[in-house]
Order: sequence, then structure tokens, then C-alpha cells
Amino acid sequence: MVLADLGRRINAAVNSLTSQSVVDQTALDAMLKEICTALLESDVNVRLVGQLRNSIRAKVASALNKEEKESGSNANAIKRLVQKTVFDELCELVEAHPTDEQFKPKKGRSNVIMFVGLQGAGKTTSCTKLAVYYQRRGLRVGLVCADTFRAGAFDQLKQNATKAKIPYYGSYTEPDPVKVSRDGVEKFKKEKFDLIIVDTSGRHRQEQELFAEMVQIGEAVKPDQTLMVLDASIGQAAEQQSKAFKEASNFGAIVLTKMDGHAKGGGAISAVAATNTPIAFIGTGEHVHDFETFSPKQFVSKLLG
Ligand code: GDP
Repeated sequence: MVLADLGRRINAAVNSLTSQSVVDQTALDAMLKEICTALLESDVNVRLVGQLRNSIRAKVASALNKEEKESGSNANAIKRLVQKTVFDELCELVEAHPTDEQFKPKKGRSNVIMFVGLQGAGKTTSCTKLAVYYQRRGLRVGLVCADTFRAGAFDQLKQNATKAKIPYYGSYTEPDPVKVSRDGVEKFKKEKFDLIIVDTSGRHRQEQELFAEMVQIGEAVKPDQTLMVLDASIGQAAEQQSKAFKEASNFGAIVLTKMDGHAKGGGAISAVAATNTPIAFIGTGEHVHDFETFSPKQFVSKLLG
């Protein structure tokens, strides 16, 4: 089920409860069942759905008990409570609670951001999007193409960067991605760039070779932030994939791409929980400006229309 349908179904379930004259446990359970089914069909992890159900039930149950004891007490207040609780719990579902403060590039020093992710996830596209995002905020940004694995990767980055007027670095002849990334970062550091974004190579599958390369590039460029690019449409696989990348690269935030398509999104929500890592940005199209910062509250508001 795509995200828009998920939102509609959750709304319909809440509305069907709140339009009843009597809100009781049976009506609450029917609403919860419909919300949970919708979430599961959107690939949200079953454990998380269970947590959400228990949490909503617990929060609304005490109000319902009170209502039963004092019959005729304020049904509207209960309806409002149901709406607020569903909203809050959905926010909780997409929110991470990292212990570290979230990274923001600071002017006056060379910040390094490294991208990781599987091939096709949208890394190269998102690198340029992020570069443009910060360039518009007054930072001098350089792009480094350390993807020496995929033929045409450097050309793609070069083309995107040229179009967006972002300086770039890469090599057609050097096969070692560690060397290319080190050289590129050094060059931009020397030139006092504020932000250096390193695009690394992906593979079709998670493999040891990819993870080993990621670790080596990380050691060479010492990123201030590592971003994992995750395709929103990959469903349940997102959880396991993000866990494996977290172990290898300890990324600090997620860029969730292809949120414009028929993304179920639920898998990505589970990835947040599995790695306790926030989504920093979402990609909403192929164009360089189709890129937004992610806020759980805004996301849930939009989801519920
Ligand atoms: P990489 O292999 O991870 O570097 O992936 P690319 O950046 O080459 O992207 C793979 C494909 O996904 C390209 O066709 C991109 O245009 C497309 N793409 C990337 N981000 C988005 C997005 O947010 N929305 C849509 N619709 N397409 C995207």
C-alpha cells in the first residue's frame, strides 16, 4: 500500500470511531485493528505496530474507564484524545532518539559528508541535491566522486555538478576509490571549501567488499557525518539493510529517496527504529530541487492530510 493510501486508511479509521455517538472499548479496538492492518500492509515492522497499538490502547483506556464510571461525561474530549494519541504515536514511529546531537555543517571549517548506500538507491542524485541545498545557504561546496566501481558514475556526477554549478573532483584513470576520495577531499580542504561531499560506490547487494571499501574511505576522509541513502520503495528489506550499513559505517542520518513514487515507506520507518537513526532529508523526485528536510510532525500531518 502506498503512503497516501495509508494516510487515508488511518484517517478513515479514526473518523469512523470519532463519528460514533458512543466511544467504547469495542469501537477503540476496531479502530486499532484497522490502523495496524494498514501499517502492516505498508511494511512497517510487526513489533513496531504492536508497540503502537499497545501504547494507544493504554493511553485511551484510562479515559474510557473514566467515561464508563461517569456516564455522560465528555465524549468529545475522548475523541480529541484518540486523534491526538494516534498522531503522537505515528510521530513516535518515525522519530529516532539518537544520543548524539545532529550534525550541521559549520562555516569557517571544511566539513566532510560521506554518502553510503546500495547501487540505485539514489546516492549520486542525492549528493548533488545536498550540495545545492547547502550552496543555497551560502556554503562553498565541492563534490568528490569516489565511485570507481560503476562505469559512468563519474560522468553522472560531473553532469549533475556542472548543471548545478558545483565544483567537483574525480578521476577516469585512478581505480582506487580510497585514493580518489583522499585526493579530492585534500584538494577542496586546501581551497578552503566549507563542505565536501563524498559519493562512494554501491553494489547491487550488500557484500563484504563494499563494506570494507566504505570503512577504508571513511578512514581516509574522516567524515564529520555519514549519510545512508535508502530507497523508500524497498519495503521490509530496509530494516536489515540499514542495520548492516549501520554496523559497517555507523551512519549518523538517513536520506530517504523516491518518496514521490509508489513508496510504501513502511520499511523505511522500520529502518529508523532498527538503527535509532533519524531521517535527515527526503528525495521527492529526480530534479535537483526535489529534496526536503524531514520532520516527523510534518510528515505525519501530510500523511494524514
Ligand atoms: P546511485 O546508484 O545510488 O548513485 O543512484 P542514482 O543517484 O544514480 O539514482 C538511481 C535512479 O533513481 C536515477 O534514475 C535517479 O534519477 C533516481 N532517483 C534518485 N532519487 C530519486 C527521488 O527522490 N525520486 C525519484 N523519482 N527518483 C530518484
